[in-house]
Amino acid sequence: MIELKKVSKVYKNGVGALNGVDVTINQGDFVYVVGPSGAGKTSFIKMMYREETPSEGQVFMNGVEVASLKKKEVPYLRRDIGVIFQDFKLLQRKSVYENVAFALEVIEENPRKIRRRVLSVLDQVGLKHKARFIPAQLSGGEQQRVAIARAIVNNPKLVIADEPTGNLDPETSWDIMQTFEDINASGTTVIMATHSKDIVNQMRKRVIAMENGRVVRDEHRGEYGYEV
Ligand code: ADP
Ligand code: ADP
Repeated sequence: MIELKKVSKVYKNGVGALNGVDVTINQGDFVYVVGPSGAGKTSFIKMMYREETPSEGQVFMNGVEVASLKKKEVPYLRRDIGVIFQDFKLLQRKSVYENVAFALEVIEENPRKIRRRVLSVLDQVGLKHKARFIPAQLSGGEQQRVAIARAIVNNPKLVIADEPTGNLDPETSWDIMQTFEDINASGTTVIMATHSKDIVNQMRKRVIAMENGRVVRDEHRGEYGYEV
């Protein structure tokens, strides 16, 4: 479903972030992307939701070349992709409910459907009872679960997470990782850049390791493979 063919990326300032990346990810895969800072993990991930486009090579999402999409078609691509960041990126003045509902409202669903769906995903991440809270009233782990709820509210086929546990303590990180397992168990593809060595080593999922813009390792039931 996701295919990168000889993808290279050189940013405007001349920095090379990706160098001939060839990767295929199938529907339902769970993939950890690991490697040192600056290896190209974020750039790799950004190719999939067209936050960045390749300087060379091609990215295909379900057979569609992402760079060939018109600007007005990009929202349709992103509707099928939920993205989760290290710093949560929640709307600080809005409630938990509104943060999640916002993602649905922009695609013009009817109000009763929105309400049912929002409460259902909040229930799924264990936060239905905090629907009226604002982000500042939540722990880091709870805020990340709101971000996950927002990412999955449209039933995306793909969930992408860029260091989702980077700001969380180890115990909370395990809870968050379990939530991603559950999402994946329902058939959703999960791609996650992470530095959480212990979690990667225990989960034994596919591991794509990057260094200097290249894929240096791609293993099923892989390991983290670095000291930090
Ligand atoms: P523009 O010239 O349109 O601002 P840039 O490529 O300079 O485009 O930056 C685009 C975005 O990437 C900006 O938000 C910038 O802060 C961020 N950015 C720039 N350089 C780096 C870098 N070395 N690492 C990570 N992000 C960067
Ligand atoms: P990682 O996620 O593994 O830390 P990145 O993809 O963020 O790697 O960065 C790869 C390289 O590209 C780094 O040298 C980084 O500074 C650079 N880079 C990332 N984003 C930008 C940007 N928008 N503009 C310029 N350079 C960037």
